[in-house]
Amino acid sequence: MQLAVGEFQPLTDGRQGSGDDRDVEHHDERQWELLAAAQKQPRAGSAALRRAHALRNILIKAFTGVSMINSGAASAAGGAMSPTLWADLRRFVAQAQAHAELAPADHAYELAWPLTARLDALLWPIALSALELLTSPQLIRVKKCAGCPWVFLDQSKNLSRRWCAMDDCGTHEKIRRYVSRRVAKKQSERRS
Ligand SMILES: [Zn+2]
Repeated sequence: MQLAVGEFQPLTDGRQGSGDDRDVEHHDERQWELLAAAQKQPRAGSAALRRAHALRNILIKAFTGVSMINSGAASAAGGAMSPTLWADLRRFVAQAQAHAELAPADHAYELAWPLTARLDALLWPIALSALELLTSPQLIRVKKCAGCPWVFLDQSKNLSRRWCAMDDCGTHEKIRRYVSRRVAKKQSERRS
């Protein structure tokens, strides 16, 4: 499922899905539906927003921790998930399962959530997706971007990707390096 990767920009490949306009339209439509629903029930709207921020903070802590272990910047002892952090995520996971329906899909079933039921329902597939990633061998592919604080899932064959999005951070970093190389070259020319 890996919605944590698809829905959460900090974990996404900037190029993935960007060419699919239907997806973008679908997201816009959902966004408007949610906004309209939140305006009708402002209290539930603010509560859902607080929960969304809480889940975002949990995911940032968890996957930044994982990326630091993966890069060797932090010790793997104890892992990235402290018991408190897991307890925080588990609350979302438990809610997700408690509200899930079983929908037929191809030759199996998949979990589905009636998104109109509650304003924070869109957080549930993200929480389950985060759990799926945390318990998958793919976890080794979680990396921190070399150009910004985001983390991403490196799906390159030899784990060589360094930036969250090549046409954003990758370009900035390359320009920065090019400029500093030019400056260094000019300075050494002046000295000689
Ligand atoms: Zn980046």
